[in-house]
Amino acid sequence: MITDAEGMLHRAGLKATAGRVAALEALETLPHADADTLFRSVRSSIPTTSIQSMHNVLGDLSAAGLIRRIEPAGSPALYERRTGDNHHHVVCRSCGSVADVDCVVGEAPCLAPSNTAGFAVETAEVTFWGLCPACQSA
Ligand SMILES: [Zn+2]
Ligand SMILES: [Zn+2]
Repeated sequence: MITDAEGMLHRAGLKATAGRVAALEALETLPHADADTLFRSVRSSIPTTSIQSMHNVLGDLSAAGLIRRIEPAGSPALYERRTGDNHHHVVCRSCGSVADVDCVVGEAPCLAPSNTAGFAVETAEVTFWGLCPACQSA
């Protein structure tokens, strides 16, 4: 049986290595996870893996467009499988938890800058900052 992750890799022209499949599967349940979290999550199923190979896998998957990399200020790079829809993020300034925010208005880039300096704008990456529900009630 071919899993969703294997299909994604094949369609992107990547070999479905155990590490790539495991990373994609882990990101299904751990959106906005960093390399260290993903490494700890796949280590039980792939004991021979290393943090360096997880970084390599995440680089390959990002380059192929299968995952998106975001880097909120003060946070390590985070990865997610939701790609191509120009969604934004809200980040908790206390605990660092991250949630998705759909486009601010309509289609990407969903924001009209007052001056684009002649650039053809394709995406807008917005990070909203605040306190998550858990930190608000703490
Ligand atoms: Zn929080
Ligand atoms: Zn997201």
